[in-house]
Amino acid sequence: MNYQDFRPCPLCGASGQIPYANCTDFTVSKESYTLMRCPSCGMVYTLDPPSQEDMCRYDKLNLKLKLGDAPTGVVGRLYYRVRSHMLGKKARLVESQAYRTSGSLLNYGAKTGFFSHRMERRGWKVTSVERYHEERQFSLEMFHHRMIDVPEMDSLHAGTFDVITMWHVFEHCHHPHELLDRFYELLRPGGILIIACPNIRSTDAMFYGPYWAAYDVPRHLWHFDTNSICKLAHRHGFTLMHHEVMPFDSFYISILSERHMRHRLAFIRGMIHGLYSWCVSLTRRSRGSSLVYVFRKRQQTE
Ligand SMILES: [Zn+2]
Repeated sequence: MNYQDFRPCPLCGASGQIPYANCTDFTVSKESYTLMRCPSCGMVYTLDPPSQEDMCRYDKLNLKLKLGDAPTGVVGRLYYRVRSHMLGKKARLVESQAYRTSGSLLNYGAKTGFFSHRMERRGWKVTSVERYHEERQFSLEMFHHRMIDVPEMDSLHAGTFDVITMWHVFEHCHHPHELLDRFYELLRPGGILIIACPNIRSTDAMFYGPYWAAYDVPRHLWHFDTNSICKLAHRHGFTLMHHEVMPFDSFYISILSERHMRHRLAFIRGMIHGLYSWCVSLTRRSRGSSLVYVFRKRQQTE
């Protein structure tokens, strides 16, 4: 890691990018990737990731859960309970931040559709965008909820959505500038954009270094902290209104990181470090493992 990359920063265009870390794809390819940091805007990003077309070879589709499966074992039941709790928490966050209990919601990167389904049941009109056919098919069969593919977004009308959500999706997107511009168009005046993503300034990221599971190269192209994501969003017409910690991520990420390090008792060690990270984030949100950001669309005169 003793070189400089002379290409400009993909966020702000500044030159003189410096290496930040060397990370390994522990879960799929075992390949190594360099993370770069922009000295000007602080953005950290994966250098030379696979193209959007090639990324399907690296993505892990969450389709282990088959139609009609019931949770089994302690871990299975715990997972279902945590997921159900988080779906409710996300729904309440949307409604409290949007100041409404129904409306029009765009869920970008909807995966298998559990959140979309939860919001539909609460009375929201939900449009879901998902690039993988298998996950769109799962949603159709499980929830009778038809999702659209990314190119179909072109047919959506400007100014029609009250809320747009991206739950752990933005860090995967190859064209963040274009996406934020499109979201700005699609939101009605005063609409909100909710983005959840890992936080590289978290206690667990600092502790695990290159083994931190939420670097997740090469699937994660962008590695945000509060400062860099706010700069990016502000540039595209969004103002931060609120941010909060996602409570279970520090545990999940710490356990995975311990596994990457091949430690014995990875589950117990991960739980202990996850608990410590979560406790720190109770008083310092900027240290949370994953953060949820709520941005409001600015009027052009603001
Ligand atoms: Zn920069």
